[in-house]
Amino acid sequence: MELILILGPMKSGKSFDLISDFMTLEYTNIPFGLYQSARNVRDENIWSRNGLELKAEKINSLSRILKKNLEIVGIDEIHMFDEKEIETIGELLKKNIKIIASGLDTDYQGKIFPTIKKLLELGPKKIKYKRAVCEICKNPDAIYTQVYKNNKPILNGLPNVIPDNGIYTYKPVCRNCFLK
Ligand SMILES: [Zn+2]
Repeated sequence: MELILILGPMKSGKSFDLISDFMTLEYTNIPFGLYQSARNVRDENIWSRNGLELKAEKINSLSRILKKNLEIVGIDEIHMFDEKEIETIGELLKKNIKIIASGLDTDYQGKIFPTIKKLLELGPKKIKYKRAVCEICKNPDAIYTQVYKNNKPILNGLPNVIPDNGIYTYKPVCRNCFLK
């Protein structure tokens, strides 16, 4: 069916938007599922941002979703899945399943994630581009996510998907404040 993407830097309210889309579904008979990558070690089974909470199942592979009889599928932190996994999204769309996926669009160097590129190739019906407040200049124009270790920005040498395990910190920043 249709693919809807919610993209933007850290702290831009992507998960909030995604959860909002699924809140009312809880009270319907529509079979739906919410998922996030098992690589996300920060959240424990519960999905929470801005006070809203919904349960999301952690999965290693999106192919798990193919076996289920769902009408609507939500995926948080989609960029954490390998680009090869996006073939499964194509399969789900062919099965008439609606997919709403949120995630970072660009990595710590400001480059688009291969996973996101693959999603764009599937022809999303709608893309919501979110902005965050730049944590350097405080303008509401942050489009990148700067990654820090010991308060120093890291400009190279990292894998493009970085585990959120407490070693690194993240700041949304605008074009002017982003360091490459
Ligand atoms: Zn700025």
